[in-house]
Amino acid sequence: MEASVPHSVNKKATMAEKPIQPEAIVRFIRETFKTETGNIFLHEPYFGGNEKKYLTETIDSTFVSSIGKYVTRFEEMMASITGAKYAIATVNGTTALHLALLVAGVQRNCEVLTQPLTFVATANAISHAGGIPVFIDVDKDTMGLSPTALRAFLQEHTYMGADGRCMNKQTNRHIAACLPMHTFGFPLRIDEIADICSQYNIQLVEDAAESLGSYYKNKHTGTFGLMGTFSFNGNKTVTSGSGGAIITNDEKIAKLAKHLSTTAKIPHQWEFVHDAVGYNYRLPNLNAALACAQLEQLSGFIENKRELAVLYKGLFESTDVSFVWEIKDAVANFWLNTIIFPDEVRKTSFLTYSNEHQVMTRPIWQLMNRLPMYENCQTSPLSNAIWLEARVVNLPSSVRFK
Ligand SMILES: *Cc1c(COP(=O)(O)O)cnc(C)c1O
Repeated sequence: MEASVPHSVNKKATMAEKPIQPEAIVRFIRETFKTETGNIFLHEPYFGGNEKKYLTETIDSTFVSSIGKYVTRFEEMMASITGAKYAIATVNGTTALHLALLVAGVQRNCEVLTQPLTFVATANAISHAGGIPVFIDVDKDTMGLSPTALRAFLQEHTYMGADGRCMNKQTNRHIAACLPMHTFGFPLRIDEIADICSQYNIQLVEDAAESLGSYYKNKHTGTFGLMGTFSFNGNKTVTSGSGGAIITNDEKIAKLAKHLSTTAKIPHQWEFVHDAVGYNYRLPNLNAALACAQLEQLSGFIENKRELAVLYKGLFESTDVSFVWEIKDAVANFWLNTIIFPDEVRKTSFLTYSNEHQVMTRPIWQLMNRLPMYENCQTSPLSNAIWLEARVVNLPSSVRFK
């Protein structure tokens, strides 16, 4: 594993690597965003296309709610952008995850393997489906689920059940699914994860909430397993106010997900017939209209964000702060630009200085297994996640068209 960790993450301080001070970073951010005073946010939405036109059209049509042409158009656009055969719109990214896990077969007391370094929605969706998360370490360079750690955990802690199901030796529970997450839009080694999952008969669902427009080996993130999910929350690369999507290549899965997301109603001209406990997870047409207008601008947004990433990369060259770059064979959307400080003290002093000076920066999330509701969950050794938790900071990353 060590061999594949790039210089930028693994480097030791040398004579050439000068400490970079918080003042210098904040000054650079203000210059780059052409904002001398006032707040610079972590990630602001940008509405530069057909947003108002589509929203006005939707209001004029009266179809503002769960039925309307933009929901269908949004699903078609998501399928086309990701290369998946089917896309199902949902009201947010968390419900997309919940539904995807249910459709993947996660039931009460099943276990789901995921990473401890993620936004809480990943673990919560497992709980909503009745599952129990097991936290497996990440790779340092991708900040996403580590194939090495996953393989080691499965070899040591599982056995094959009578019906070919992967069982946890410690709990005798079925490990039904694996839910990796592409942190900040940086693709993880998802092809290796997919191979391991199929070897152990575990369903793979990708939390691609942060990685719209990110590719690994020329395939869009979210297309490597049974399903992938996305979020269109206000802080993501493109936003629908609130929204989500599930993508899949499996027709049966797509139909089931759509059915359950729309109260499991059997189509009928007037009768109310429902054949399962369904959900009202539909995306309103109003939000879908916003999503369509935003998706039209996706490639421009990503080009703009990658230009910003190149500027940041230049700033941190020859300093003792690492700027996170995509791994080989990956193309990241650079949703949130990410730096790694040499230690926690330097991280904290930068967070303090920048936020006191109205430049919004954020640490990476607290590990899920430290939160009260997940503190008793099983984990693999988490040395990489713990290392990153102490050092990682996100920098302002909005598109700059102003
Ligand atoms: C944003 C996000 C979600 C949830 O999306 P919502 O639309 O806010 O429900 C899930 N997982 C990750 C990793 C996210 O960043």
